[in-house]
Amino acid sequence: MTDTTQGSAQGYLADPRNEQVLVYLNGDFVPRDQARVSVFDAGFGLGDGVWEGLRLHRGRLISLQAHLDRLYEGARSIAIDIGMSRAQLTDALMQTLAKNGMNDGAHLRLMITRGVKRTVNQDPRFVIGPPTVVIVAEYKTPRPESKARGMTLFTSTFRTSGPDVFDLRLNSHSRINLIGLQSGDVLGGITVADAGREAGSTAVVHQAIQKGTLAAHKVGRLLVIPHEAWAAWKARHAAPPEGWVRLSTLRQPLGIRSDKLSEFARMGYVPGAVRCNPFGVPGPSTQFGTWYIDPKTAGRLLADRRAGRPMPWHGKPLLDNLRVTYKLWAQRRHPATCATCAAIWGEAGPPADFEDYVARYPALAHGAKRHLTLPWSPGLTVADPPSSRGGPPKPPAISRAQHELSARKG
Ligand SMILES: [Zn+2]
Repeated sequence: MTDTTQGSAQGYLADPRNEQVLVYLNGDFVPRDQARVSVFDAGFGLGDGVWEGLRLHRGRLISLQAHLDRLYEGARSIAIDIGMSRAQLTDALMQTLAKNGMNDGAHLRLMITRGVKRTVNQDPRFVIGPPTVVIVAEYKTPRPESKARGMTLFTSTFRTSGPDVFDLRLNSHSRINLIGLQSGDVLGGITVADAGREAGSTAVVHQAIQKGTLAAHKVGRLLVIPHEAWAAWKARHAAPPEGWVRLSTLRQPLGIRSDKLSEFARMGYVPGAVRCNPFGVPGPSTQFGTWYIDPKTAGRLLADRRAGRPMPWHGKPLLDNLRVTYKLWAQRRHPATCATCAAIWGEAGPPADFEDYVARYPALAHGAKRHLTLPWSPGLTVADPPSSRGGPPKPPAISRAQHELSARKG
């Protein structure tokens, strides 16, 4: 016996008498090393069968009737005709015990498979004989250490399939569902579904796995995240600064749709807003992400709104408008020799793509924006001097928005 089986809840004390037991095999009694079934047996090829485990305690098979109820019900549910009555089957069990001289401390495994098939396939109609009926009886005394120490129980984080998919009340020979679950617990980790429930979004977890920022391995049909990897991911997951409020909570008082607010934030029109997806918060409520804002700024926005003052995003281009200007800019793009363009975009150079453009264009001065969409001609030099704010975007602030407003007026 290995160390593994010592730790198993199904571990038992080695007993030399088990080497000599006779196995019931389709009505015959054979030594254990001769107890063989065909490779064409439906049980071998497909796990197509049902079984019961029975314990012999002081001459009695515990809950025999309940076990037989389940066996016949399971066999009926997959259309296996056991071909033996309850009395005949009970008799076979008793004969097995008698042949082996057992009256206490034994465990029996009664197995019924659909039987030998013409070929190994899934269609039950290819069976060519009666069901295979096997009874293995062995001495299985629980390990005294286990009895003394007891067993540590825990609730598995893995879930087997629901009864509509694979009903585990059917005591079938195929235990893949449960074996996967046990090996998953042995390897340790939590499922993506459970991680998603914890994080508030399964999509966020899947994204992290796809990006390679979160480790996961396949266990059976499940993707499992090792506990340490999950803890580390949670720890480094972006959280908003202490006390900041979710931008979407300003939706009602500002009288604006939350996805519009997020869009303004992404355009850099909401002063100081930061994008985060803190752990435990449902994933981005809109395509523009989940944004957080300093409570002071939030208070100022609300006060401005009540006083009827313009909001910082007032009159600013939105994504659709930006698509138009982006297209125009790309079409009319000035050659690299244009010094004005070079000054507008600064060291970072022109935007690499639309995303980059969206992040930088709205913050440009009006004159700079105008220059970028003017048709190119060699004479066009500094048609409209760009402001000094033409470089990569800095975090937006109220003062900057106001500055831009005054620059526009001037
Ligand atoms: Zn230019």
